[in-house]
This record gives sequence, C-alpha cells and structure tokens, in this order.
Amino acid sequence: MIAHDAVLSFASELVAPHRLTFRVDPGLAPDGYRFEFADGVLEVSGENARGALYAAYDFLEGAVRGSDAPRFTIRGVNPCESLARHSPEQLRKFIDRLGRWRFNRIVIHTQYGYEEHRELLEIECARRGIEPIHYTYYNLAFCGDVSPEYFARKADGGVKASGRRLECYDRLCASNPEGLAAYGRGVDAYLRTHPELDEILFATADGAEYCECARCRHLGPVEQCMAFYDPFFDCAGGRKRHFISYFHRYHLPVDLRRLQQTEFIMFDTHVRDRRVPLRDEYARSAVQPRLIEADPRASMPVNRYLIDRLKEWREVASGKVYVFENYMMQSIYGVPTLDNHIYLQDLRLFAELGIDGVVYEAFEPGIQAMLPLLDAAAQALWHPERDYEIDQSNGVYRPDYQEFYRLAGEHKANRNWTTWAALLEHLLSRPDYEEFDFRYIGFNAAWFVQQRLGAWRTGDEWTDRFLSINKLWDFMNEVERPRETTERIIRELLERVHIAKKNGC
Ligand SMILES: [Zn+2]
Repeated sequence: MIAHDAVLSFASELVAPHRLTFRVDPGLAPDGYRFEFADGVLEVSGENARGALYAAYDFLEGAVRGSDAPRFTIRGVNPCESLARHSPEQLRKFIDRLGRWRFNRIVIHTQYGYEEHRELLEIECARRGIEPIHYTYYNLAFCGDVSPEYFARKADGGVKASGRRLECYDRLCASNPEGLAAYGRGVDAYLRTHPELDEILFATADGAEYCECARCRHLGPVEQCMAFYDPFFDCAGGRKRHFISYFHRYHLPVDLRRLQQTEFIMFDTHVRDRRVPLRDEYARSAVQPRLIEADPRASMPVNRYLIDRLKEWREVASGKVYVFENYMMQSIYGVPTLDNHIYLQDLRLFAELGIDGVVYEAFEPGIQAMLPLLDAAAQALWHPERDYEIDQSNGVYRPDYQEFYRLAGEHKANRNWTTWAALLEHLLSRPDYEEFDFRYIGFNAAWFVQQRLGAWRTGDEWTDRFLSINKLWDFMNEVERPRETTERIIRELLERVHIAKKNGC
C-alpha cells in the first residue's frame, strides 16, 4: 500500500521553498503523472502519490513541465540476504537511490537483517512510495517450534538438518502428516503475529537438499515445495501472496488452482547465461545440466528453456508476473561483468511478453561499479524502446578499483590463503573499505579456500564457525553486533594467515 501522505510531504520537502500541489487523476496509467511549475507552485496530477515524487525529481533536474508513465509497473531491487551487512547510513543511501531511480518495490528478506533496520526501512520506503515484498523462508519463519524429527531425511533415514539452529538450507519432510500439521500451526501463528506484512513471498528452503525418505524420494522439487505452499496460500488469504519460480522449480505443478489465484509470481532467472540475451536466437547459451534432474526439457540452451518457462507462467497466472534478475550477484564481489546491454535488451523482450516488471539484485556495499547499468535500467523500465549509452570506460572500470579487480581475479583463479590475504589486506587498508562488500568477500573467499584445502581450525569458536558455515547470513544471524563481529573475525583471520606464513606453514 502506498503511504499517500508520507510521499506527498517528502515530495514537498524536496521542492521547498516552492510549493507542491497534488491531485489524483485515476485516468492516468499506473504510476503516470503530469506536472507544471508556475508562480512558485509545482502543480502535479498523478495516478497515485508517487507521481508527486517523480515530478519533484524531474523539477529538481531542471524540468518545469512534463508528463510520463512507465512501461513496467513493478520496478525494484532485491538486496537478497545482505541487509545485515548494511550500516544504517548505507541503507538510507540505498533507499534514496531507489526513489531517484523511480523504483516502487524492495524485496526484504524478513529473517535476515530486517528486524535491525525495520524502523528505518518503514520510514524511508514510505516516503518514496516503495512497497516492500517480504521474502519469507518457510523453514525459518514457520518451523521454529517444529520438532527435529519432522525435518528432511537422508536416504539412510538420518536427519539432514545441522541441528544447531535453523539455517536457510534446512527443510521439512514433505510427507509426514504430523510434521505438516505442526507446519500449518507454525504458518498460522506467524501470520497472526505479523499482521503488518501486507505482501509475503513464500520461499522454500534454499539449496537442493530434498527429503529422501521412502515417501518423498518419489516427489520432485516442485511437489516437495507445493506441500508447503498450499497451506500457506490458504492461510494467507487477504494478503498479497508471491510465489517464486526458481532453480529446480521452473516448471508448473500438476495442480495449478492455487497458483492461478496467486497475486504475484516472481520468476528468478538465477541460472541464466548472462552473456547472452534471454531471447537467445542463436542458441549460444550453455546447457545447465542440473536443471535436467528436475525437468528433462532443460536439455537445451538454458536461456531458451527459461524463456519457454516464463511464457508458461505468464499464460497460466491471472496475477502479475515479474522477473528477478540476479544482476549484482554476491558471488561476483562487485566486479563488473560487461553484460549491461544484455539486460537492457531483455527488457524489450519482457515488454513484448506482457511481463509486469523486474527487480534487480542490488545492495549498497560494493555498488559503485554497478551504478551505470542500474541508472540505465531504471530509465529503461519506463522506456525500454529507447537506446541507452552506458559508459564502460569511466563509470564501470573505475581506475581506482583496478588493484581490487586484479586481486579478486587472482584469488578466484587460485583460491588459496595467500591470494585470500592479499585481497583482504588490500580491501581493509583502503580508506573507503566500507564501500566494498568486504564482509561477504572475506567470508566467501575464505570458505572456498577451506573447501579446497581442507579444514583449518583456529581454536576460536566463532572463527571456526565462520569457516565452516555455508552461508554468511546464517552466521551473522547468530552473533552479537554482526557487522562488527564479522569484521573482527576477518581481521583476526588475516593476522593468523600472516603468522602461519611467517612460520612457514
Ligand atoms: Zn520425507
């Protein structure tokens, strides 16, 4: 829901000392607006209050009259699991960018960093008419009181969950009636205690650790997911429900009734070949063998497979369908990938297919080199037919980032403690180190070395945990002062690597 008054007073502040007047014009296209400035007054009419904000930005950029309407009604970002890595200042800056980009959506991973930043998110998003989509892992949100015996099993009958506390890979057995009943009570309790969550995206556990018990092993990933989605759908009536199609779950389930009534479908292109447009007329994108496990039709160039599935979803869904593009993937460390024009081409295809919009993966730490594309994409979401110049030379390859790019490349090629230490030492010695996503880079780069070279025990509980846990966000959820603790552990690890090297280990 748009906070009408909050947007209008924020837009008025922006144009002060001039005055802003606003009138709703339901005849305009969604998010459409028109404005004129005369005698110290900016007169705006808009389909909704966001028009006042967009007119205010146009005015601040020098326009005295104009009108516009976006081609896509869903325009936004998904910061994924990164919220806990943002300082309040970074998050405020990020949300301000969203407003200036004329974005109207932010995906919030409700179990990762939301509580800490909740008030800031609510206030800053409301001012800009940005509507949150609460990305909710069913396991983390609904299963806190579910007994461990109901969790997914290995083929030999053992429980798969790590057992310490729930992590994003942990999932329930999809066939145990008592487990499903306990899950249903968990959904009900969560929704009753969170009336403020107007839009909820239902996410299954991450990863591919499906239940392999005698009854589940005949169920595919889609069936194992729908066992949990269906009760959620029934319980969350009255709210806006989002379903995510992703990885092993691009194909449709047999029973479509609930999905046909689901208000929003997010189609996550996670496995796409980003060097090739999704239209992929020349079949140059790679085949993704892991997709074939779940759908034999995936034995074709992956981008073609994805577009076929996206068309299917568009056809069956009566609600809105939008795409999630993993543009600023955490694993690329904020190193630009030179595929910007591909994403802009894809927007034209989405417009043709009747897709309602796009959310891009983006977050403030490490965003600098990614800004040229995001700036262009923000405009292209309004006018995908226009041509946009992206200056790769200055905007993307910042000269002062060259050493960081070189060390990140060297580490990815070698993945040992020497290249890890060189990369982290460089980052942490920079006065602007907070501008990089150094916590994720420090964790992820160390994790790969650990996987490759085997266990390196430091004797410190948190440092050892840091090296062995699968996901940084699960780690950050466990510690006090997650940003500071993570930085401290990375610095200590760096010190230990230096000592080990000095001692010739
Ligand atoms: Zn099972």
